[in-house]
Amino acid sequence: MKEQICLTGKKIYNKGFAPGTSGNISCRVNDKILLTPTGANLGELAEQDIITTDLCGNVLEGKKAPSSEKFMHFEIYRKRPDIKCIIHAHPPKSIALGVTGKALKTALVAEAVVVLGEVPIVEYETPSTSELARVVAGYFARHDAVIMVNHGVTVAGKGISSTFYKLETLESISEISIITELFGCRNEIPVKKLDELMKIRELRE
Ligand SMILES: [Zn+2]
Repeated sequence: MKEQICLTGKKIYNKGFAPGTSGNISCRVNDKILLTPTGANLGELAEQDIITTDLCGNVLEGKKAPSSEKFMHFEIYRKRPDIKCIIHAHPPKSIALGVTGKALKTALVAEAVVVLGEVPIVEYETPSTSELARVVAGYFARHDAVIMVNHGVTVAGKGISSTFYKLETLESISEISIITELFGCRNEIPVKKLDELMKIRELRE
């Protein structure tokens, strides 16, 4: 799993989803959490950098300090026992869309509806605080992906690959959303057809 986290970190960094030392990844393995360290570049992670904690956040293994967004990860895991992986990143198009205050319309593309469902925009809270953790985790009661205004995005899933695909799909639909906004034309999937996509979504994960 540590190797998977390092490989996923490289993909996230190479895609430009986590510039500099932004972004963090965690995975739940039984009653333990594997978490990336604070101040790390996700593209340069080594397996020995990954920190192991218990579900309360107590460090069990690892020399570095866990990610500063650890509160958010633990709060989401507490709220959603079904979640096994969480990725927080700073993908520029999703952030730009959040800053405009416009809602993200996943109904522009069928795949985005199936992979993401509805993606809310979460009100601003200071990064790394327990207040941000509480607010974001609240949205995860009903969603698997959020845009955090003036900050970034957080996605969660049952596997590390599927969670990365959510991040990739979110940045893609944000880009499509911005382009269609620039064209001033948005033909969304008919509402009566959305139920069929939501049924496919339920079967996927
Ligand atoms: Zn962040």
